[in-house]
Amino acid sequence: MKLNDALRIKTAKRIAAMQEAENRRNELHARIARVKEIDSILRDIPMRSLVGESVEALRAESEALNAERARLLEACGYEADYDTPKFECKECNDGGYCGLKLCQCIKSMLASGNYQESTLAQGLIGKTFENLSLDYYAEGEERENMAKIIDGCKRFAQSFPADKAAGLYFYGGTGLGKTHLSAAIANVVSQKGFSVLYESAQQIADTLEAVRYNRADVSERKKYESCSLLIIDDLGAEFFTQYGSAAISSIVDLRIVNGKKTIISSNYDPNGIKKTYGERLCSRILGEYRVLKFVGKDIRMQKIKGANN
Ligand SMILES: [Zn+2]
Repeated sequence: MKLNDALRIKTAKRIAAMQEAENRRNELHARIARVKEIDSILRDIPMRSLVGESVEALRAESEALNAERARLLEACGYEADYDTPKFECKECNDGGYCGLKLCQCIKSMLASGNYQESTLAQGLIGKTFENLSLDYYAEGEERENMAKIIDGCKRFAQSFPADKAAGLYFYGGTGLGKTHLSAAIANVVSQKGFSVLYESAQQIADTLEAVRYNRADVSERKKYESCSLLIIDDLGAEFFTQYGSAAISSIVDLRIVNGKKTIISSNYDPNGIKKTYGERLCSRILGEYRVLKFVGKDIRMQKIKGANN
């Protein structure tokens, strides 16, 4: 692994930890009005010292507020550090550097070489079951559908590879949590020590094509066959080369025969990919996979709108 990759992974973790802390703070603010009030007073304290208030008095006030905050949290069943970012490395807070020196955590990532997460695409780190929010799904059927899907996926991941289904097929519109959920499963399964490969259908088709023309080593193909969990993202109805589509189908097929699990996500229901990938793949998926339909409104769009309000 290269230094840049290691730093990127760390930074992604740092951002995820801070995002998670912010979500938790918002949750506290929604549940305990006084905590929201306290946080807004605490936020203004540094400014008040600039306009001449006594530093000692401000420090005492801030200590009292923090103590009150901790008591409130405890009374409501939260740990006092509930909304403090939980960084993986306490030395560098996942920044990668201690002062000007590279942190030990980065050095050991570089040394371990085959760092598991290097197989996971960058955007997946930090996507967990815990920070998958149901708030973006309309109350009622939509949310119940999603809660059921999440439950099933959690069981799939936690019991990996025991699940009876050969794989999961996620389908539905863009921005409904398919990628987040695949990533959450990938994180759990790889933490259990299994090898996980997460790539888009396009990447896989390109690689298989490259192997075919000897532009890539045959081991590049083998990794799709041998990893414990293969996640094929964004299986579209677009036309790769005929070879690419056929090669993906045959990998999926081979994995079923060998009892290896696969997760496929797509904007299309299994019948919608028949034309590109063939009848066989479609009936394999319908017969052997658990097919899960995602419904709702594009979460990314909702977040963008929410941020603008
Ligand atoms: Zn560190």
